Amino acid sequence: HGLYYAPDPSSQIACTIGGNVAENAGGVHCLKYGLTVHNVLRVRGYTIEGKPLTLGSEALDAPGYDLLSLAIGSEGMLAVVLEVTVRLIPKPQLARCIMASFADVRQAGDAVANVIAAGIIPAGLEMMDKPMTAAVEDFVHAGYDLDAAAILLCESDGTPQEVEEEIARMSTVLRAAGATAITVSQDEAERLRFWSGRKNAFPASGRISPDYMCMDSTIPRKRLADILLAIGEMEHKYGLRCCNVFHAGDGNLHPLILFDANDPDQLHRAELFGADIMETSVAMGGTVTGEHGVGVEKLNSMCVQFSPEENAQMFAVKHAFDPQGLLNPGKVIPTLQRCAEYGRMLVRGGRLPFPELERF
Ligand SMILES: Cc1cc2nc3c(=O)[nH]c(=O)nc-3n(C[C@H](O)[C@H](O)[C@H](O)COP(=O)(O)OP(=O)(O)OC[C@H]3O[C@@H](n4cnc5c(N)ncnc54)[C@H](O)[C@@H]3O)c2cc1C
Repeated sequence: HGLYYAPDPSSQIACTIGGNVAENAGGVHCLKYGLTVHNVLRVRGYTIEGKPLTLGSEALDAPGYDLLSLAIGSEGMLAVVLEVTVRLIPKPQLARCIMASFADVRQAGDAVANVIAAGIIPAGLEMMDKPMTAAVEDFVHAGYDLDAAAILLCESDGTPQEVEEEIARMSTVLRAAGATAITVSQDEAERLRFWSGRKNAFPASGRISPDYMCMDSTIPRKRLADILLAIGEMEHKYGLRCCNVFHAGDGNLHPLILFDANDPDQLHRAELFGADIMETSVAMGGTVTGEHGVGVEKLNSMCVQFSPEENAQMFAVKHAFDPQGLLNPGKVIPTLQRCAEYGRMLVRGGRLPFPELERF
C-alpha cells in the first residue's frame, strides 16, 4: 500500500516489536518521525496476574490517563506485551543524503545545532568521529573521508521538490559551520552506501577489538562537542580506546568502549569508563539512556539521574501494576540502599563532584 512503519532501530534484524515497545526504541529516523511512543496506537497484553490489558486506542483520543505512554519504555516492568497496533505513514517519494566532513569535532557538533536552529528537521542526522570512521571504512569501503575529525550524515526525504530545497538549505548551513567537504548522494545506491558504514558501526568495532561496550546516553545537542572532548580525556584516564557514533540530531550518544574481557582489569576499567560517560552526560544536562533502556547495567547511573523520591514514585507505579514485583525483578529502578552505597563510593573515590550527589 506504499506505507511503512517509521521507527527503524539498527537492531531490527534481531529485535521484536514487543522489545521495541518495552525500550521505546528509536533509530536513525526518529528525529523527524518520532520514537516508538509516537508511532504506536495501542498495545494489548497481560498483567502478571494473567488479566488481559488494553492500553491506548485506534481512536485519536481515549478517556482516562495515558497509560499507553507509561507502558512504552517501561522495560517489561509493568506487563507483558503481546499485540501492538502501529501507525503506518506513506513512504517518502525520494530520499537523499549529504555526507559532510569536518576538521574539528566542535565545528561538527555546532553544525548539528545550527541545522536544527535553522528550522530544518532532517530525516536523519548522524555523526561519526575519526576512529569510528576509520573502523567502518575498513569494513564497508563506503568512501568516507579518513582525514575528517568527524563526519555528518544528513538525510532529507519527501517530494523531489522538498528534498531539493532542503538539501540546498542544509548544505548552506553545513558550509557556514566549516564543512571541509560536502557530497550529496546522486542515486539510491549511493545513499545506501553513505549509510552502510553508520549501520555497520557496531560490527565494525567488533573487528578492531576483542570486545566493546556500547553505551547509550543523551545530551543537549549544543553539548555534542563537549562530551566528545570529555570522552577523549576519559580514554587517557582509563587507558582504553573509544569510537563514537551518534544519533546527533537528537543528542543520543553511542560511545563504543574497546576492551578485552579476558583481562579483568580492562573489564573493570571499561565499566568505570561507561559509568563516567553516563554521569558526565547527566552533568551536561542529559539522561542516562537514549534508546537502549536501563536494564541492570545502568542501575547505578539511575541513582545519579533521579532523586530517592523520584525512584520511590517509580517503584509505586510498578507496584500498581505488579504488586509482588515479579516482572523483571531487580531491573531499571535502583533501591534506596543501592543508591546510598553508590553515592558513598563516588564520594570516597572523589569522582564527579556535581550537586546531584549531595543528597547522599
Ligand atoms: C547492534 C544493536 C543495535 C541497536 N540499535 C538500536 C537502535 O538503533 N535504536 C534503539 O532504540 N535500540 C537499539 N538497540 C537496543 C535494542 O535492541 C532495542 O532497544 C530493542 O527495542 C530491544 O528489543 P528486543 O526485542 O531485542 O528486546 P530484548 O533485548 O529481548 O528485551 C529488552 C527488554 O524488554 C523486555 N521485553 C521484551 N519483549 C517484551 C514484551 N513483549 N513485553 C514486555 N517486555 C518485553 C525484556 O524483558 C527486556 O527487559 C540496539 C541493540 C543492538 C544490540
